[in-house]
Amino acid sequence: MKKFLIIGNWKLHGNLNFIKHSMQQLIFYIQNNKLLYSELSIAAPYTYLHYIYNNIPDKLFNISAQNVDIHTIGSYTGEISVYMLKDIGVKYVIIGHSERRLLHNENNEVIAHKLSLVKSVGLIPILCIGETLCEKNNNQTINICINQINTIIKKYSINFLKNIIIAYEPVWAIGSGIVPNICEIQKTITCLKQYIKKISIDIANSILFQYGGSVNFNNLDQFIHTKNIDGLLIGKASLDIDLFIKIIEKIDQKLIFIHRS
Ligand code: PEP
Repeated sequence: MKKFLIIGNWKLHGNLNFIKHSMQQLIFYIQNNKLLYSELSIAAPYTYLHYIYNNIPDKLFNISAQNVDIHTIGSYTGEISVYMLKDIGVKYVIIGHSERRLLHNENNEVIAHKLSLVKSVGLIPILCIGETLCEKNNNQTINICINQINTIIKKYSINFLKNIIIAYEPVWAIGSGIVPNICEIQKTITCLKQYIKKISIDIANSILFQYGGSVNFNNLDQFIHTKNIDGLLIGKASLDIDLFIKIIEKIDQKLIFIHRS
């Protein structure tokens, strides 16, 4: 059974106190309420990942990196390689987040290269894709997303998409409090799946699709009930640990109901 993947993206937030407190709360909650149908991963800043990994009992949850460098060794001051991430127990690596595309000029070529490196060491890439508001208003959503995926297929091969996570995150929905209509999200994800299916059914079926962008406690029911959404990437709402635990609890409870009915 594939589990619903919840990732908390803590971005450039927190300090050791926040990390310790959040860990305690998460561990306490999950030890007392087993996550039956969902998997939790925390994308903390690099500096805290090793600490978190070493303090998670019984693999109750796992860790994700928010980025990785395109180099694997050498004189690249300030960078972190896929080998280093693997070395400290990272499971997922977020690549192509819109904040990196916009603020660090990462283009589809760079992101494709990062994806190939992540895969080469056996880690799982979370490929973030999505359109800007202007692109959406010009009915470019599907084209933009397909183009973001296609760079990987053209530069490497369709096999590089095997078992990856694709996080559909409309740029205008991130941190804005605005969530697209659920039908639009479903339509986009379905189109992307269909596109990949035309090339390889097996690969399309191996990909998990997440949605990300202003998910919170009050709007999350719709995502759990939507076919083709296999998980959620949650930024701001994951930073308030009490709220995040309520979100995790709600998701797992809803999933129990779905699986039983
Ligand atoms: C994100 O940055 O990936 C994200 C989904 O953020 P938020 O939930 O704050 O919109």
